[in-house]
Amino acid sequence: MTKNSFTGKRGSPMSATKTHSIRCPECGTAQNVELHDAINVAQNPELKTALFENTLNRVQCHRCDASFRIDKPLLYHDTERDFIIYWMPDTTFTREEIVDHFDKMTDDLRAALPENTPLPCVRLVFTRPELIELIYLLEAGMNERIVEYIKYSIHTQNMHRVPPAAKQLLLNIQDSTADELLFAVQNVQTAALEDILRYPRSGYHNIRNMYRNNPEEFIELFPGPYISARDTLLAETFEEPADDDDSGEFE
Ligand SMILES: [Zn+2]
Repeated sequence: MTKNSFTGKRGSPMSATKTHSIRCPECGTAQNVELHDAINVAQNPELKTALFENTLNRVQCHRCDASFRIDKPLLYHDTERDFIIYWMPDTTFTREEIVDHFDKMTDDLRAALPENTPLPCVRLVFTRPELIELIYLLEAGMNERIVEYIKYSIHTQNMHRVPPAAKQLLLNIQDSTADELLFAVQNVQTAALEDILRYPRSGYHNIRNMYRNNPEEFIELFPGPYISARDTLLAETFEEPADDDDSGEFE
């Protein structure tokens, strides 16, 4: 069928590497290294393992032996499950530049596909933990807008414990149970995982029913391609200054 032509010969995104000149952060020595720009994990499952083991795009300095990871734009493509996640570290580009770049990449992808082929699910993330979280989430068949909706309500109900300006919630699927979803609380500044919050899995099912009845509301709240409760909350704070009592909260 037409769907397979995407994973077939024409327009099939492959794993790709490129040579980059990298300077060692320890001793300053420059060296040329092959880094991955794109990984197709259905074709190259070993690259997914490398990503999860934190060895993908890791460089060892040939002079001082220091080992360091290069965070660069990476296209994560799972042709079997039909989703694409674009990781654009926002350390080197502004988010506006990233979204422009992302739109261009999506246009290229659409052009490479045969006509009338639905575009696979394409998502954007800015950090490596977000990338790992989203891979687990999509592999588990969960809906990322429902998960972000849960985060949205956790943030708004616990503004002091998890203020969105300083803390990010990450769903930990591996350690979640049949009854509870586990969310790690990450400090945005230090990237340290500081706390764990539990949320009843039945809550996910209830919100999923809400989603099925009215998906537009969720899409409006999290339009994508970057789907993030924290991002939505920060935009809301920016747009309409809080008119509640504790005005000193977001200074
Ligand atoms: Zn070095």
